[in-house]
Amino acid sequence: MNKITLFLLFLLTSLVCFGQSPRQIFQETINETDLRKHLSYIASDELGGRDTGSEGQKKAADYITNHLIALGISPIVKNQDGKMGYEQSIELYKNGWKDSYVVINGKKKVFFNDYFPVGMINIPVEKEIETVFIGYGIQNETTNDFHKKDLKGKAVIFIENEAKNKNGKYISSNADNSDWVGSSGLKKKQKIAADLGADYIFVISLADSDQFKTLNAERKAVLSRFNRMAIEKSKTDNSTANTTLPTFIISKKMASEMLGINQKKLDAFVESPSRTLKTKKSTIKIKSERGEETVQTSNVMGFLEGTDKKDEVVIISAHYDHVGIDEKGRIYNGADDDGSGTCALLELAEAYSKAKAAGNGPRRSILFLWVTGEEKGLLGSKYYTDINPIIPLDKTVCDLNIDMIGRIDKKHETNENYVYLIGSDKLSSELHNISENVNKETINFDLDYEFNDPKDPNRFYYRSDHYNFAKNKIPVIFYFTGVHEDYHKPGDDVEKILFSKYSKITQLVFATSWELANRNDRIIVDSNKP
Ligand SMILES: [Zn+2]
Repeated sequence: MNKITLFLLFLLTSLVCFGQSPRQIFQETINETDLRKHLSYIASDELGGRDTGSEGQKKAADYITNHLIALGISPIVKNQDGKMGYEQSIELYKNGWKDSYVVINGKKKVFFNDYFPVGMINIPVEKEIETVFIGYGIQNETTNDFHKKDLKGKAVIFIENEAKNKNGKYISSNADNSDWVGSSGLKKKQKIAADLGADYIFVISLADSDQFKTLNAERKAVLSRFNRMAIEKSKTDNSTANTTLPTFIISKKMASEMLGINQKKLDAFVESPSRTLKTKKSTIKIKSERGEETVQTSNVMGFLEGTDKKDEVVIISAHYDHVGIDEKGRIYNGADDDGSGTCALLELAEAYSKAKAAGNGPRRSILFLWVTGEEKGLLGSKYYTDINPIIPLDKTVCDLNIDMIGRIDKKHETNENYVYLIGSDKLSSELHNISENVNKETINFDLDYEFNDPKDPNRFYYRSDHYNFAKNKIPVIFYFTGVHEDYHKPGDDVEKILFSKYSKITQLVFATSWELANRNDRIIVDSNKP
């Protein structure tokens, strides 16, 4: 290359960049087209809702990793084999049912299909037990289904609720209401059975077979919500799970098999319980073991080394997991939650890598951190801060956390140029002022502090990953555009993302982090607000 073309090239670049600071130049590399490209993959059905530890989440981790490699951003996690990588692998512990079944006459009944538990029942070793049928299980002035029944050490079987007579009144009282229906009725029946020494209860559901399938699915979904994951093995054992008599709801079909009768006979008895029902004595086998299984997942991160202040690190974070697929097979793509934060980080990493390649790299280092298990209780960020902070916490200047920035909420239906900021003034007044000033100089959005109010009942300050940094006195800003009708619903899809505002908020995060990474003095911690 000769001197004249070199001079022309110099002239050209200075013209293009005329009047623009390096911050502005690289901020503008963040754009709607790139965000849309990334999010269309991250929030696609192919990733199956990115449930913690799922194959879909692993695909997301691979996508992020490949992007970091392509950008030339450094790995910072030392793997067991001594090689450097982008993934901090985490073993989570998940409490749930393991081996669970009922065997009737040698036939195995399927848990959450033929029957389901009322609560968190734990029967760790197989029990063989005799059954006894007591009709509806009612005991009052006119009726006593428990009369002369030996329940001691047995599994007692009764029908749910109470039958009605021809006039539509409840049989035992001839009244419109009954104490023996619903969950309070079940509690009364459970109490009597427990007092009489029964060991287990099987309640015959009156639902038809389709309704019963739905009940099973619903119950499974409800109880699995209590199967929280944790980053450590649980200290409490599962033997405390049985607080009342272990109680299961069974279908009429399973009940007839237990009672050794034709289902039609049971149906007839359900209609008029005054007739006698000859049942066979039977012995069943039962097991419902609760235990812990491990789930393998990871935080993904990339490191961009700073220049003269490289030991101090600005973290930008987002969670890349979501809630997966529900019992009806619907995929929760989580485009906003938190596909928006996940892909914003991909763009931020790109902007910084371009700045560095052009000789404008930041003075402090930047850690791009995609955390796992947020939806299971902020577990990935908790693992990072509590167990293995790759960057020492005292070298961590701040955490800018992005969780849902692609939509609008009810309050802002007429103005999409806003973002909720949470936490900015809690630990550092300086951070708050910098954030305000940068916004004025750049996108000039309305910064809404409604959720920063400690009296706000939503308590969002405690509900995303930044909190694990804040609790360690590391200043944070949480960027958020609020909840909407598709929050944690299957409709949180990429088609509903407002890319223009999403792109601008991502630029704001870039500009704010740029200032924090390049200013002479590290921001100070001067308060501790709730
Ligand atoms: Zn989220």
